[in-house]
Amino acid sequence: MTSLDSSTYTYEAPVSAELFARGRTIIPGGVNSPVRAFRAVGGTPRFMAEGSGPWITDADGRRYVDLVCSWGPLILGHAHPAVVEAVTAAARRGLSFGAPTEAELDLAEEIRDRMPPVERVRLVNSGTEAVLSAVRLARGTTGRPLVVKFAGNYHGHVDALLASAGSGVATLGLPDTPGVTTGAAADTVVLPYNDVAAVEAVFAERGEQIACVISEAAAGNMGVVPPLDGFNAELRRITAAHGALLVLDEVMTGFRVSRSGWYGLDPVDADLFTFGKVMGGGLPAAAFGGRADLMDHLAPVGPVYQAGTLSGNPVAVAAGLATLRNCTDEVYAHCDEVAAVLRGAASAALFAAGVPHRVQQAGSMFSVFFVPDERQVRNYDDARTQDVARYTAFFHALLARGVYLPPSAFEAWFVNAALSGEALDRVLEALPAAARAAAEADGHRSGELPSERST
Ligand code: PLP
Repeated sequence: MTSLDSSTYTYEAPVSAELFARGRTIIPGGVNSPVRAFRAVGGTPRFMAEGSGPWITDADGRRYVDLVCSWGPLILGHAHPAVVEAVTAAARRGLSFGAPTEAELDLAEEIRDRMPPVERVRLVNSGTEAVLSAVRLARGTTGRPLVVKFAGNYHGHVDALLASAGSGVATLGLPDTPGVTTGAAADTVVLPYNDVAAVEAVFAERGEQIACVISEAAAGNMGVVPPLDGFNAELRRITAAHGALLVLDEVMTGFRVSRSGWYGLDPVDADLFTFGKVMGGGLPAAAFGGRADLMDHLAPVGPVYQAGTLSGNPVAVAAGLATLRNCTDEVYAHCDEVAAVLRGAASAALFAAGVPHRVQQAGSMFSVFFVPDERQVRNYDDARTQDVARYTAFFHALLARGVYLPPSAFEAWFVNAALSGEALDRVLEALPAAARAAAEADGHRSGELPSERST
C-alpha cells in the first residue's frame, strides 16, 4: 500500500463504536482486559480486524502502525509467516492432548539456553499464572508468608500483588481492588521502587518472615522505569543474606530487550524468573523457572502443587518456539535501532513544540513521560507527576494519523522487527503534529483522569 495523505485520516470509527456499544451489553466495559477500553484517554477503543507486519487494521478498515504489539508479545510483527506456519502445522496435528509433547521440551530448553540461571522450567498459560506459581513456590520452599513488591510494578492480577500495582491499576487510578482479602493484603509489603534503603529497613524488621522479593526485572508498567544501576544486584544481596528468594519478573522484558531479556543487559542471578509475552508469540503461553533444587519442590517431584489443563498447549508452544527461534541477533539489533530512532524523533518533536517531557528506556522498550520538571522518573510517585492530559492529546493526534500507541500514559511502547520503511515514516511524519497537540493540552495530572468521552 502507498502512503496515505493526512487528509485521509478521519477520526470517526463508526464500526468500532457500534461494536463497543454491543460489547458493553455482554462483556463488562466491552473489553476482556481493562486498559483496552480507552478509559484513560477517552474515545472509542478500536476493534481490530487483522494485522500484518508492523500494521494493524481496525473494524472500520483503517490501518495503524502498531506500537503496542499486543502489549509486548509480537516482537516479530503481526502474522509472521514462520509463526503462522508453525501454529497451523501444530493445529493440524491436534489442538491439545493433556499429555506431554516433545515441543514443550524444545521450548523449555530454548528458555534455559537463553537464561543461564534457569535450570528448570514449568510452562503455564499467562504471566499472572507464572507469577502466582513462583510466589507459591517461594512460600512453599521457605515456609515464610510475606512477599515484598514495589509500587508501580505490575505482576498480573494476582491477589497478593495487586497492592499499588502499575499497568491497568495505575491507568484507571484504582485503589487496591475489592475482592482481595485483608489476609492476602497483609502478607504483601509494598515498597518504593529503586529504594535500597527501604528494602534494607523492611528486612531488618521482618526479614525472617519474608519469603521473597519480587520485582519487574526492569519496570515497564508505570511507563518505563529501569532499575537504577546496581538495584537488582542489591536485591540479590539482601535477599540472600536473609534466606529469602529473589523473583525477577521478566514477563515483559524477557526475550524482548535482548535474547536473554533484561538478564542479558543486567545479569543478576535471581532464584526464580517469570516469563510470558514474547515466549508465547501471541498465544497464551508463559513460564517460570529457576534453580533445579527450588523448582524440584513442585509436584509431582515435590509437595508444592501447580498444574494446568492447557499448560504447554501444543499450538501455543509452537507459536512461542517459532518466535524465539526467529528472534535472532538481527531482530534485537533492528528493534534497538528503530526504538532509538523513535525515541529521538519523539523527543525532538516535543522539544520543538516546547513540551516538557522525559523519554525513558529499558533496552528497546521505552515510554514518554510528560513530567513538568523533566527529572528522571525513578519510581511510581515520580511517574504520577506526569500531565496525563498532554498524553491524551498526543495519543489521539497520533491515532488520527494512523499510529496506535498504548491507550495510557502508564505503559511501555513496543517496537517490532517489521517496523521500517513506510510504517516508520508514518510515525515520524505524525510526531510533530502530535507534539503540537500535546503542547496545547494541559491541566490533568494523574488522579484527575479525563472521563470517558462518547464517540
Ligand atoms: N508481569 C509483568 C511484568 C507484566 O507486564 C504482566 C502483564 O502485562 C504480567 C506479569 C501478567 O501477565 P498476563 O497479562 O499474561 O497475565
